[in-house]
Amino acid sequence: MSGNANGVKASESATTNKDVQLGRPKVRGVDIMRDPILNKGMAFTLEERQLLGIHGLLPPALLDQDKQVYQVMQNFYRWGNDLDRYIFMMGLQDRCEKLFYRVITENIDLMMPIIYTPTVGLACQKYGMVFRKPRGLYITIHDLGHVYDILCNWPVDDVKAIVVTDGERILGLGDLGAYGMGIPIGKLSLYTACAGVQPRHCLPVMIDVGTNNEAIRNDPVYIGLRQKRVTGEPYDKLIDEFMKAVVKRFGKNCLIQFEDFGNHNAFRLLETYRHKYCTFNDDIQGTAAVAVAGILASLKITKVPLKDNVFIFQGAGEASIGIAKLLIKAIVKSGRTEEQAFNQIWMVDSRGLIVKNRPKGGVTGEKVEFAKDHQPVDSLEDIISKIKPTAIIGAAAIPGAFNEKILKEMGNLNKRPIIFALSNPTSKAECTAEQAYNATDGRAVFASGSPFKEVSYKGKTFHPGQGNNAYIFPGVALAVIAANIRDITEDVFLASAESLSEMVTQEHLDQGRVYPPLQDIRSVSLRLAKEIIEFAYSKGLALHHPKPKDLACFVEEVVYNTDYNSYVPPLYEWPEYITSSNAKL
Ligand code: NAD
Repeated sequence: MSGNANGVKASESATTNKDVQLGRPKVRGVDIMRDPILNKGMAFTLEERQLLGIHGLLPPALLDQDKQVYQVMQNFYRWGNDLDRYIFMMGLQDRCEKLFYRVITENIDLMMPIIYTPTVGLACQKYGMVFRKPRGLYITIHDLGHVYDILCNWPVDDVKAIVVTDGERILGLGDLGAYGMGIPIGKLSLYTACAGVQPRHCLPVMIDVGTNNEAIRNDPVYIGLRQKRVTGEPYDKLIDEFMKAVVKRFGKNCLIQFEDFGNHNAFRLLETYRHKYCTFNDDIQGTAAVAVAGILASLKITKVPLKDNVFIFQGAGEASIGIAKLLIKAIVKSGRTEEQAFNQIWMVDSRGLIVKNRPKGGVTGEKVEFAKDHQPVDSLEDIISKIKPTAIIGAAAIPGAFNEKILKEMGNLNKRPIIFALSNPTSKAECTAEQAYNATDGRAVFASGSPFKEVSYKGKTFHPGQGNNAYIFPGVALAVIAANIRDITEDVFLASAESLSEMVTQEHLDQGRVYPPLQDIRSVSLRLAKEIIEFAYSKGLALHHPKPKDLACFVEEVVYNTDYNSYVPPLYEWPEYITSSNAKL
């Protein structure tokens, strides 16, 4: 067992899962009601209230979990706006974890836009006001040399998944510094809600090296370091120390998901660590898998084979480059050479079409291999007229970039144009679902990053797909944790994309969907996890041995159960003062 600098054992005070299963929480009395993992609110039975020493501390009525869910939902609807609903739900998570996850799991399509994008974006922008109770770990640049000690302060030893951010590029909202902590917290909630990863195995981490957002630095209630971002060697040293400390504290199999790091750090950190640690970057690899899944499903509608498509990416950052690279793998698998595959993909950034020797420059890093032998073209409209794409994918956080003229042109060029407006939150989307359907006479195959409501067009109802990374990362995380997959290769993400696209049925396609409905995300994630595990065993990537005979059962067995534990131990373990004939229950 690990201990921190003060010699305190991390799990000394915590009740273990086994204790809870056996109905023997070490915490008793009022403390059990204050512990969100153990608390059941008014669902504590009379026996439990007596045994745990909390009789009289609750109103006499018993409200079972079903009634509590009803009560939560009534309150949820009562709030007038989504930010208040977010604060309400976070409060519930802090009070009663099982109830929180039951409500989220049962109402996932309603809750997802609250606990995740778009509302979480607003919450991060106002995090100083939203902040009630700390969750996760905050590691700052001043902690260099002491990161392991901080990890030891975390009261759970068997952490299996960390989501870490430095807050530099939160959604499409830019540098929010320590206010970005809402993202790892939200993502890990989805680990549990979508894929049933045990919450106690999850740890959100904020690496605070300052923020270059002056408005946030001057915010009187800012929760982070009020200094400009530290970069270069000290930054790298801190990240490196963090990675090593995670392995020392939680072991080599602990998954580290990088989230919302700035473009310049995201790619190089991924390259530095991907083969040495159990890690992935969701903005690059998770996005890639979900977008490629959407593209593969779209092709079932457009009937244009993958190898004959031409893609234009508006934006050449983490999302676009990640998608493009995975798409190359998929195109090669469909029968093209790598060179041919690259020729099918065109990129546009803030300086126009990415071409070799571009006079405006800026073709560096990951963009270089996508630069074409072509004349420079500045405007997206001109680029589309010249290149004649079958699909346009927006991930530059430039709202309205797919204007009516562009959408109409896509409709002229293609029977069924693929239009993905992936930028988040909703305010940053390249176009709305309605605009896409209207401008193309209802022929667009549309998906977005943030949710759009269904659209009625000429008597037909379309259900726009949401290319939500949550279709991928929770299932990947569950597979990684359950089967001890340490090396999360690109092939794992391609397999995830293929698996997800295969879950899109003809009925979904007929409704305009290129993803399964969000309310099915739980079963989607569990099936995805099972298929990833199967794939990982076939490639020798799964280190859990022997391979379970029934993978579906194996996955089901490890998932989190939102039912309350019973704290009433077997009768023979009851104290005598209760079981004796004089005892009055
Ligand atoms: P990023 O900062 O890494 O990249 C942004 C890119 O946009 C850069 O290449 C930049 O040059 C380019 N750009 C800026 N202005 C432009 C302009 N006027 N015209 C063309 N390109 C321009 O960010 P990212 O991680 O790639 O994310 C971009 C957006 O995609 C965000 O809004 C994010 O929320 C969204 N996203 C969506 C999903 C999803 O839908 N599942 C997943 C990840 C990211």
